[in-house]
Amino acid sequence: MGTTMSNLRVGQDRSRELRSILPNLKILKIGGQSIMDRGADALLPLVDEIVEAAKKHQMLICTGGGTRARHAYALGMELNLPTGVMSNIGAAVPRQNARMLQMLLAGNGGMYMMPEDIEKLPMYLAMNCIPVLGGMPPFSFWEKPARQGQVPENRTDAGPYLLAEFYGCPEVYYIKDEDGLYTDNPKNNPDAELIPKITAAKLLERDLPDLVVETAVVEYLQHAKSCKSLRIVNGLKKGSLLDALDGKGGSTITSD
Ligand code: ADP
Ligand code: MG
Repeated sequence: MGTTMSNLRVGQDRSRELRSILPNLKILKIGGQSIMDRGADALLPLVDEIVEAAKKHQMLICTGGGTRARHAYALGMELNLPTGVMSNIGAAVPRQNARMLQMLLAGNGGMYMMPEDIEKLPMYLAMNCIPVLGGMPPFSFWEKPARQGQVPENRTDAGPYLLAEFYGCPEVYYIKDEDGLYTDNPKNNPDAELIPKITAAKLLERDLPDLVVETAVVEYLQHAKSCKSLRIVNGLKKGSLLDALDGKGGSTITSD
């Protein structure tokens, strides 16, 4: 029986369990600024770790943009371009990073993927590929206007989160260059303390001066149906990625 406009409210029944599409899939974000921009020193050991992890886990790797994306956003800001244009521009650098990472993984099944290929993911996984996708969600010109300024609120942290939520993955993994979430940006504040575990509501309530993931993701977590945990780990430390996929290490931000 289909849903008509008059019974749309049926879908709002909170007791309904959603179908998990690919619950065992591990969706990872490889940081743009925090990992990719550091080049070979940071990336090559991680590539080895991804290959190792692929023996055990089905993964989808998403890439961030980093400094080149920030430069494009800065230009767009200066030119007073609207958020929809910025979102479109902001997708380009994560794709460049995805292309580079795919090539590094090519000998082990690395495959470049576009958002249009989402329905083909089960086939890529069945073929033991390691799919690599630019992390920017493809809202493009349809990106909602940002609450402040023009930089899109949904960037390359939101992309992997929204995919994990849609695929029914209980946790999503952010591979960055800090041991997790701190009370402030540890690069500017030496007194910042690690927060090993916190709920999204508590985190938003604390209104920290800076966050390790996009605020939008923490907001989405509050009404998550499937992906109820983010794990943030330090990809510069050997073994962190493998541990993370086993549910260990770093910081977690949870729905409740
Ligand atoms: P990505 O490379 O995924 O785009 P970002 O550079 O956007 O990652 O975010 C990671 C950075 O966020 C870290 O390198 C750290 O300097 C900074 N940061 C800001 N606030 C925090 C915080 N509260 N806890 C940890 N890191 C933080
Ligand atoms: Mg970022």
